[in-house]
Amino acid sequence: MNGQKFIAATMNPDLAEKAVGLLREVDIQPTKQRVAILYALLSRPNYHPYAEVLEMDVNQSLVHVGTTTIYLSLRALVEAGLVESFVDRVGKIRYGLALKPHINQECYTCGIIEDAPMPSLPAISQWKGTRAHILVRGLCPTCAKIFSDEQVHKPIPAQYLELQP
Ligand SMILES: [Zn+2]
Ligand SMILES: [Zn+2]
Repeated sequence: MNGQKFIAATMNPDLAEKAVGLLREVDIQPTKQRVAILYALLSRPNYHPYAEVLEMDVNQSLVHVGTTTIYLSLRALVEAGLVESFVDRVGKIRYGLALKPHINQECYTCGIIEDAPMPSLPAISQWKGTRAHILVRGLCPTCAKIFSDEQVHKPIPAQYLELQP
């Protein structure tokens, strides 16, 4: 395949073209592995899989990609700013699309992760910030109907800012 544009027969052509275009915009060769990974992330809203889950997803429906290649490709995509990575409530790394600045919201109880729009941020320090990663943990609307704040409230380490409702 030699770094040429790759679109598998099982892919939705528009979405595959979008993945190829995004890779080209950031000067990354659209190899079949990278296209397949980005395509998988583009295919579902609010998709924040573990690398192993993404590997299964890509291998089941798109193209064979080995574990090492999954990690190397994800690293390149994160460095290029197309993909985000963050640590979830159980200490495992999640990956997600980072095409728009957004906040990740993670539910304490059911573990669902959803994107929310990023508000404009004030200047925080002398640093010239160009990217912000914000993870908000709380109760999703469904769990908020079942659990009270007190039931899920865990002692919060001092380094975390507590949000006032
Ligand atoms: Zn996200
Ligand atoms: Zn929930």
